[in-house]
Amino acid sequence: MLDIQAIRADFPILNQQVNGKPLVYFDNAATSQKPKAVIDAIMKYYGEINSNIHRGVHYLSQKATDAYEASRQKIQKHLNAKHDYEIIFTSGTTHGINIVASGFAKFVKEGDEVMVSAMEHHSNIVPWQMLCERTGANLVVIPMNEQGELIMDEFDRLLSGKTRIVAVNHISNALGTVNPIQYIIKKAHEAGAAVLIDGAQAVPHMKPDMQELDCDFYTFSGHKACGPTGSGVLYGKEEWLNKLPPYQGGGEMIKEVTFAKTTYADLPHKFEAGTPGIASGIVLGTAIDYLDAVGFDNIIRYEQELLDYGTERLQEVEGLRIVGTATHKASVISFLVEGTHPYDIGAIVDKMGIAIRTGNHCTQPVMDFFGLPGTARASFAFYNTKEEIDILVEAVKKAQRMLV
Ligand code: PMP
Repeated sequence: MLDIQAIRADFPILNQQVNGKPLVYFDNAATSQKPKAVIDAIMKYYGEINSNIHRGVHYLSQKATDAYEASRQKIQKHLNAKHDYEIIFTSGTTHGINIVASGFAKFVKEGDEVMVSAMEHHSNIVPWQMLCERTGANLVVIPMNEQGELIMDEFDRLLSGKTRIVAVNHISNALGTVNPIQYIIKKAHEAGAAVLIDGAQAVPHMKPDMQELDCDFYTFSGHKACGPTGSGVLYGKEEWLNKLPPYQGGGEMIKEVTFAKTTYADLPHKFEAGTPGIASGIVLGTAIDYLDAVGFDNIIRYEQELLDYGTERLQEVEGLRIVGTATHKASVISFLVEGTHPYDIGAIVDKMGIAIRTGNHCTQPVMDFFGLPGTARASFAFYNTKEEIDILVEAVKKAQRMLV
């Protein structure tokens, strides 16, 4: 059992009034709030050990390097990756996907296929389109049904010897659908394709196991998982990371540089050109420690309760329609209120201290599929409460009375 009041006390930002009302923060899919342990760790880094890493013999540089590499190992353990050098620090999910999509040009030729799904975030579409433009490969899309579930028969049908890589999200940020990635990974491998999982919405809500999943790449953003902005991870299997060319050239990622030829550093440094986000990388480890201390068994159980309760209560609002009704969902409720624009609902509930997101959630193809300009989206974290959901429901009813 989680002591929610104790957990809430860990998040200083939650204890404030917005527009004269207690803040209700339901925009967790965009970014999570940060516990005091994370905020303190940022202060501690800059107050005590700030220094550039990997190149100094001096005391502070070694302290900072040790902390950075210790964080890498923490993340390796958390994800159950085989090796710490399979953990590449990035600035976020977008960066991770771009590293892979850019380097994948080496393995893709004209007429090959790159597969994404109908419910991807723009960051798991556009880099693959850029790859297709460069190589002449074709983008193939796994379709979804009206519940917002991928149609697996279609996936089976579309997969072929031409498929080079399948890139899908673990959990959809627009609909909350938890996708059957274990099946996708297995089938894609049988067809000889690599798999990248966009775990941006999964890592805050569950503990993916890299060896069990057996995916080739898995990427996430630290800022959605209680960590600092500008932090993120690309996990890649050793053999893939060794084959993949570097994304950026510069300092840190080289073994030897002459004007005749440059050789690249070993993993993970080959993908970490220049001075990285040292503080953000170190403090992402603190965020992971915090989440592990709360415990993912607890987080999963409690967030499911919030999702079930929120789904039931919001449906009490006459004319409210939930977009995305998959059997397996996590943390997200996208909705529309008949006769209103999502933006107006968002603006009115904001006046009552409630933060939700409105718009296309960087998933324009999802909105096109449902024929919508956007939705209002409430997304939960383990520090939210059922009382906050009650406040949202009353606020939506009030907004509806004002608008309809
Ligand atoms: N994929 C998904 C599913 C997301 O929800 C997000 C963030 N909304 C991203 C990718 C991109 O993450 P970032 O902007 O942190 O790189």
